Amino acid sequence: MTRTTYQCPCGARIEFRHDLEKERGTVTPSWKCTDCGTPVPGMTAEKIRHQHPS
Ligand SMILES: [Zn+2]
Repeated sequence: MTRTTYQCPCGARIEFRHDLEKERGTVTPSWKCTDCGTPVPGMTAEKIRHQHPS
């Protein structure tokens, strides 16, 4: 199984659910880097949020 990762411009590697922060108050859920708040592309975030350390 291929694991999706996202390299944030701030240098953080976003790989698991806990690396993402859900932005509230919007119709469609959007996801941000927990470190800097930069939005993570939706398709990428959707995959990452289902990944857990194993
Ligand atoms: Zn970041």
